[in-house]
Amino acid sequence: METVRTVEALRAAVRAWRGGGARVGLVTTMGALHDGHLSLVRLAREHVDRVVATIFVNPTQFGAGEDLDKYPRDEARDAAMLAGEGCALLFAPAIEEMYPPGFATEVRVTGLTDVLCGAARPGHFDGVAQVVTKLLNQAQADVAVFGQKDWQQLAVIRRLARDLDIPTEILGAPIMREPDGLAMSSRNRYLSPEERKIAARLNLRLSEAVVRRRAGEAPEPVTAAATAQLLVDGFKSIDYLELRSGTTLRPASAALTDDERLFCAVRVGATRLIDNMGIFGK
Ligand code: AMP
Repeated sequence: METVRTVEALRAAVRAWRGGGARVGLVTTMGALHDGHLSLVRLAREHVDRVVATIFVNPTQFGAGEDLDKYPRDEARDAAMLAGEGCALLFAPAIEEMYPPGFATEVRVTGLTDVLCGAARPGHFDGVAQVVTKLLNQAQADVAVFGQKDWQQLAVIRRLARDLDIPTEILGAPIMREPDGLAMSSRNRYLSPEERKIAARLNLRLSEAVVRRRAGEAPEPVTAAATAQLLVDGFKSIDYLELRSGTTLRPASAALTDDERLFCAVRVGATRLIDNMGIFGK
């Protein structure tokens, strides 16, 4: 697996593959890879002949006081993991390659970004939309795979690809979890052993809430009970815990729809964790 750092080199490689009739897939990451990221590479490989992975810790999606400076970085380890999964190319640009002097273009997806993590992290999805638009345009892949762990992000990316006529097909990959149910995340490494035990309760409480909702209970008591229980479990605060449509992200009404999901962002100590679960699985 070769590592390239310029858009020109990335484009040359993809052009050569596609010119030879190969289909190309894209997996974008911020590094600090775990098996959740690698599952995206594996899914991409089921659909294409060559997979390009990217590692770029995008500063424009971090807010003031967030963990941009301490975000874990270990490119050599990440590159070895990607090569082990059969990745064909790693694109790991410097900040100046992505945002050269004079860079002035913003990308904003309205509506979908007003709620959930968009409300809790103002500007976050503008940064995500900006960098993903660039990466999709840079790579010119046939398919790009994003994780359902970041369900709202996936919804935003699907919308921007459609609205901006980006021809890359967007695929969602299922959430990869640790054996105790905690969704894999690069931020899990921030957790102390004590916090890690608390974090494992999240999956349990979400599963309990999903069972109650599926049994026909109204949204409000279900989410209120789960929120209260998580605080008892030792979570420091709950940014949000809400039932919404997985498609429009609009709040659930009393009548259950088959795309309804439970979404949450919680804090354990100083670490923020997000998760989501479909009421009918998936
Ligand atoms: P990140 O490096 O956190 O920006 O994530 C890069 C990609 O990996 C995104 O599409 C994420 O949704 C996806 N991803 C992260 N964690 C998981 C997970 N536990 N399961 C599936 N996909 C994941």
